[in-house]
Amino acid sequence: MWKYFLPTKIFAGIEIISENAELLREVGTNAFLVTGKSSAKKCGALDEVLSVLRGLDIPNTVFDEVEENPSFATIEKGGKKLSASGCDFVIAIGGGSPLDAAKAISVIGMNSECDCRDLYTGQNLPAFPIIAIPTTSGTGSEVTPYSILTDGEGTKKGFGMPSTFPYISFLDPRYTVTMPADITVATALDALSHSVEGEVVNNGKNPLVKMLSREATGIIKEFLGKVLMNEDNVSLRGQMQYASTIAGIVIAHTGTTAVHAAGYPLSSFKGVRHGMANALMLIKVFRRIANADPERIASAIEPFEDLDELNAFLKKFGVERVDLRISDEEIEKWSEQT
Ligand code: NAP
Ligand code: FE
Repeated sequence: MWKYFLPTKIFAGIEIISENAELLREVGTNAFLVTGKSSAKKCGALDEVLSVLRGLDIPNTVFDEVEENPSFATIEKGGKKLSASGCDFVIAIGGGSPLDAAKAISVIGMNSECDCRDLYTGQNLPAFPIIAIPTTSGTGSEVTPYSILTDGEGTKKGFGMPSTFPYISFLDPRYTVTMPADITVATALDALSHSVEGEVVNNGKNPLVKMLSREATGIIKEFLGKVLMNEDNVSLRGQMQYASTIAGIVIAHTGTTAVHAAGYPLSSFKGVRHGMANALMLIKVFRRIANADPERIASAIEPFEDLDELNAFLKKFGVERVDLRISDEEIEKWSEQT
């Protein structure tokens, strides 16, 4: 028995937003834009969205304060601003941090009596409709309901509700061209991690998930090196964007594993990029699972031949060169949390 469910409408291609501008009228009449500090401007996405909104006579408010690993404090600030703005839909532009933040801001903005802790009580709260425009190719946040936030103690925690599935995702690979090499690599390894972790959970049960995982893993295996040699090549960037989105569809069905959970403190407390943190944990966690169920791991990492080949791939992209010092107490505490 299996089910496949994706409520998000996906539109992909060059200039996809201006080509489909009229769709925005269906969503709302006053837009609240959520971005990081500078990349939405640098990559050209923010200006293009503002120009489309002007053409449609849709007013807007911009909240451009989302940091990497977005904090409860930023979400609550953005939520208050949204509540006061009179906006009736949210447009998120950026990497996973602004996209995840926009989901939480959308919920808090609509339910002004709530704070971030209410996102984790298991209740389904309504949210303003969300349009997601990714500028990295990694998290798949554009097609999942998940939002990963950092609480006051620095702990990363995920939530998701039916209302936080983006209503529309616009994928334009031009917006990802400005990513520097280290972000290209870290985000691609995040997508790879979603693809293989998701399939470990799925274990072949949902054939569509299996198909998407194999496709995403194969594309990242084939194209990551090529993208780094041709960083301005929009078509190669489009391959990575596609792989990241379909790996996102995988985890929308499966969630992630201990690999992600174990990586979170490395991002919160040691400044390791999220995708790199996963890559650091991946092989050891998978070898452990393979001890009990080798076929499950062999199938989940296809088309990699085996864990040695996957390990060599990760090493090629610098996973072994991450400089990390962790105390015994930290290991103890984080293992417990994981
Ligand atoms: P990110 O934290 O959104 O951004 C990392 C850096 O990349 C920022 O400095 C950002 O700049 C910059 N950047 C983004 N797009 C760029 C572009 N096109 N050109 C140049 N620089 C660009 O990175 P991310 O890896 O995409 O997201 C990581 C977050 O997503 C983590 O918090 C992680 O836990 C979460 N996550 C969520 C899911 C999910 O299912 N929702 C899955 C995995 C991970 P600005 O700050 O200026 O924007
Ligand atoms: Fe991730």
